[in-house]
Amino acid sequence: MGAAFLYREVGPGIGPLSADNVLIFMTGPATGMPLPACARWEAVTKSPLTDMYLCSSVGGFFGARLKFAGFDGVILRGKAKKPAWLSVMDGSAELRDAGGLWGLTTEETELTIQRELKDKRVSVASIGQAGENLVKFASVQIDLNSGGRSGSLGRGGVGAVMGSKRLKAIAARGHGKIEVADEKGLEMLGRELRTELKLDEVGTPWLVDEINEAGIFPTRNFQQGVFEGSRRINAEAMCRFVKRHTACYACPISCGKFSIILGGEYGGSLVDGPDYETIWSFGPQCGVDRFDAIVAANMWCDRYGLDTISTGNVIGFAMECYGRGLLSKEDTGGLDLSFGNHGAAVEFVRKIAFREGLGNLLADGALAAAKKIGRGAESFAMHVKGMELPAYDPRGAWGMALAYATACRGGCHLKAWTIGEEVV
Ligand code: SF4
Repeated sequence: MGAAFLYREVGPGIGPLSADNVLIFMTGPATGMPLPACARWEAVTKSPLTDMYLCSSVGGFFGARLKFAGFDGVILRGKAKKPAWLSVMDGSAELRDAGGLWGLTTEETELTIQRELKDKRVSVASIGQAGENLVKFASVQIDLNSGGRSGSLGRGGVGAVMGSKRLKAIAARGHGKIEVADEKGLEMLGRELRTELKLDEVGTPWLVDEINEAGIFPTRNFQQGVFEGSRRINAEAMCRFVKRHTACYACPISCGKFSIILGGEYGGSLVDGPDYETIWSFGPQCGVDRFDAIVAANMWCDRYGLDTISTGNVIGFAMECYGRGLLSKEDTGGLDLSFGNHGAAVEFVRKIAFREGLGNLLADGALAAAKKIGRGAESFAMHVKGMELPAYDPRGAWGMALAYATACRGGCHLKAWTIGEEVV
């Protein structure tokens, strides 16, 4: 339905960051029903990263609460005169002043809105500084302080579109009920599914060993397919830091793993994650074998509002350019951007979010950055149609090559995931 609205509302020639682009938050018929894996919903818009159709999916509690508030979706057009946030509560929608929220992280924004509304169960979808600064792969973060599974409308720059409309956040809460034709049947189906679907003990990081053994774990910006440090960042390594499992609304699978780093250089870092793709993007893609650094990078991506896949991908791209002499310390602000330098990788998350120095160049994506760097850098930008590739080397999984080439939003693994058939 979101795609149909976008097709109807946004004609060719409308710029993704122009007031005429629309940003659609759309639930599905099952969103908010008491069934496993039915918490998910989509954002649909025109992408500033690829300049074409974009859909991005997320779980958490927001979609269910939007439904309980009496809305199936939200369609945003235009641009606020000054920063605003949208309150969607029990049948009413109201734009409010976000002057005091602009410049805050996503986490601070969510807490401030919940405090203002005196309700911790308000779901908040917000942008951080990256969205405000129109980073082309800025995300929208959902339900960061819910205690359950948080999420990210990560890919393609939904956060930049929201930032271009000067909309800092949408908050949703309702006490209504979703009408269904067969209440009893739904209840029975839910019970049946809950007995079949069990807790997912490790979440997606189980893929680290499988993908590495298959030789398709993209390492150092896709230069190799096997990462020698994989044992230090696999599911077993992660389990030492996981404090609890987290779940989206009404889902028994609880695939989220909340990790906390207690001491050392990254002590105090905490995040609902990292998922497999993020372990890859700040791990092998950057030549980093430190789980604590990956957690820190993930946390700052969530707080500044950045897609972890594209952010790690572009940092790995910059590392390869640095190694090949296409970028120097003069470009990096004095940082040694060699593969494996975890401190530089974490620092570049901030530089990208604030468009600082080389971060400003990388904030437009690997393809745009490569064009500006020139001297053959385009060969090292790993993308399809401008969207940075995720964590499967297509040279060893040809189905994924086809998936990347044909996905409706560019280099994406979620439209067709052939790994189950080809590898595991
Ligand atoms: S907990 Fe995991 S499996 Fe369940 S809805 Fe959320 S993302 Fe999907």
